[in-house]
Order: sequence, then C-alpha cells, then structure tokens
Amino acid sequence: MLDFSHETGPVRVVFRPGAAVSATPGEVARLGLRRVLVVCGTRGAVTARAVAGALGPVCAGVHDGARMHVPVEVADEAVRAAGSAGADGVVAVGGGSSIGLGKAVALRTGLPLVAVPTTYSGSEMTPVWGLTERGAKRTGRDARVLPRSVVYDPDLTVSLPVPLSVTSGVNALAHAVEALYAPDTSPLVALMAEEGVRAMAGALPELARAPRSAPARARALYGAWLCGSCLGVTTMGLHHKVCHVLGGTFGLPHAETHTVVLPHVLAHNAPAAPEATAAVARALDATDAPLALRDLAGRLGAPRSLAELGLSGADLAHAADLVAGSPCANPRPVTAEGVLTVLRAAHAGAPPA
Ligand code: NAD
Repeated sequence: MLDFSHETGPVRVVFRPGAAVSATPGEVARLGLRRVLVVCGTRGAVTARAVAGALGPVCAGVHDGARMHVPVEVADEAVRAAGSAGADGVVAVGGGSSIGLGKAVALRTGLPLVAVPTTYSGSEMTPVWGLTERGAKRTGRDARVLPRSVVYDPDLTVSLPVPLSVTSGVNALAHAVEALYAPDTSPLVALMAEEGVRAMAGALPELARAPRSAPARARALYGAWLCGSCLGVTTMGLHHKVCHVLGGTFGLPHAETHTVVLPHVLAHNAPAAPEATAAVARALDATDAPLALRDLAGRLGAPRSLAELGLSGADLAHAADLVAGSPCANPRPVTAEGVLTVLRAAHAGAPPA
C-alpha cells in the first residue's frame, strides 16, 4: 500500500556535455552573484581555473585547498579566503572533497553554492556536510549547504582514471541501494534508484573498455545524478555507517571502501528488504544482486577486500562495536555480532553470503 512523504530541496540541475565551463557563468548570474570564490583541490585546479577564466571579473579568486573529508582547519582557511575576497557566493569544482569544502564555507557563511562535479560521489545533490576534527568526522544536514545550482558535464570526468571511475561509480550505487530500503524512501526515489543503478552499472564496463567514450561517460554521470538525488532525500543505513566508521576512524579511502563493503551489507540486509534487493537485481539484470555487485566491481579491477585497503583483522571487533554503538536506520536490526560477520566477510574478500 502506498504511504509516503517526499520532499526535495530547491536545486537546479543543468547537464551540458562539453559546456560546463561556458554554462557556469550563466548559473552564477541567475543567482545574482557578482564576486564568487572558486574552490577546488590541487589536482582539479586546471578545470577550476578554466571555470574561473570563464567567470571573468565575477571570479573573486581561486582557492585550491580542498582535502579529503574536509579537515576543520582546511575549512577555516577557505572561510577566511571567502571573507578576504569579499565573496558573495562559492563555486566548487571537483569531487566530493571540493564540494565538501564549498559546503563548509556555505555552512559557516550562508553564501550560496554552485557545484561543478567531476566524480560520481553525488555530494552535489545533498544537504549533507562533513567536517573532520581530531580524527573524528562529524556530519549533519543543513539546507544552506545544498548547492543552488549543479552543472554536470561528462567531459570533466574523462580524466578520472578508470580505477577511480569504477569505485566512484560503485559509491554512487551504494546511495541508490540504501535509498531503496530507507525508512523515508518513496515511489519517486525507487524509480530514480533503480534507473540510477541500471545507468551506472551499464556505463562502468563501457568506460573501463573505452575511458574517453562520450556516451559511457554521459550515462555514468546521469546515473551519478540519480543516485546522488536519492542520497539527498533519504536516510542512509548500515552500509553508509560502516563506511563512515572505516573512513573516519581507520582512515580507509572513501570510494574504495564503499566498493568493498556494499555487496556484503546488501547480502546481510536482503532478507529484511526483499523488494529493494529485487529492484537492484532487476537493474543489474541478475538473480543474485549482492553477487552481481561484487562481480561487476571485481571484473573491472576494483579491490575486493578490506585487507587490501589496509585494515588490520585485529581492528574488526572494535569497528563493529563502533558501528553498532551509534544507531542508524536499517531494515535489519544492527548488532555488533551482525556487523562483525559483515566486516569479516568484507575483510577476507569472500563472496557475499
Ligand atoms: P575526491 O573528491 O577526494 O576525489 C578523489 C581524487 O580524484 C582526488 O585526488 C581528486 O583530485 C581526483 N579527481 C577528482 N575528479 C577528477 C577528475 N575528473 N579527473 C582526475 N582526477 C580527479 O573523492 P570523491 O570520491 O569524489 O569524494 C569523497 C569525499 O566526498 C569524501 O570526503 C566523502 O565523505 C564525501 N562525500 C560527501 C557526500 C555528501 O553528501 N556530503 C556524498 C558523497 C561523498
């Protein structure tokens, strides 16, 4: 029986193959902004400078200080840069780390944010911010950090190396998978999630074969938009909690950790979420969704075990306690024992069961 509520934030999305650089000034002008600070990471500085060039006098400066998981001192520095440039808006160019830095500035200053994503992380579609302080990552939701405008351009993702494209793509799939069984899912989320999985899972083998393929890059970014949209409007479950702990406390890399963990959490949750699991299987054109996810990523060369990512077996019980110790919405009750089973399988790289 249908029984749901569905709320989306006011984000404008433009998808412009080959034209992000020329489209961004129009988005900035639409918002009435006159002096924007462009933020990026060092590796994304070339694209960011091209955007800055297109903005001309509307660009008040380029700040290339983005770092993974937004350390609080990195956020402080960007807030200072925005203040001393007299910025009235922020344009974040890059992956989840750059967009995360733009969100940190928006959170502190209330300045409007425009996002130009270059990975499949999906952060641009969410009102979720994250900041890391003394080794612990805090996250929260705030409407101020939701970008007012997102400019998608598949050409900006062509330089993303295949291994990063694959893990970033599976990171996107994780948003869709957990949205399907979220307590606040809706029929619209279910449509976006299933289509997002279908698009991304179809695109990844294509772009692994031909990394410069325009149709494959476009399909992947389209999938990333759908999966990110799901992330933005639902509450994530056990999978995101596990990855948050493994990234925040044990320093594991973000997208790779999502890639290894996802099949195991889906297998764990499947008995309590049969419709969601069936939707993922349909989208993957498979009968066993967790196994198909593992095969997809493994076939494309992604890491399969947490051991490969540097997690010690001795840390598994502590990680399981941390996950079980802070509540999360999940279709199956979260217990330290259950989490430990998931972590052991993911650590060993065993097929999900
Ligand atoms: P990232 O932004 O750190 O990028 C990974 C690496 O790829 C970096 O070295 C970056 O410079 C490089 N890169 C990015 N785009 C590139 C391109 N087109 N070509 C070549 N290199 C490129 O990683 P990510 O996976 O995009 O984002 C991860 C971060 O985002 C984490 O901190 C995570 O917590 C956060 N995140 C937040 C949300 C949210 O809703 N708040 C959602 C997803 C991820």
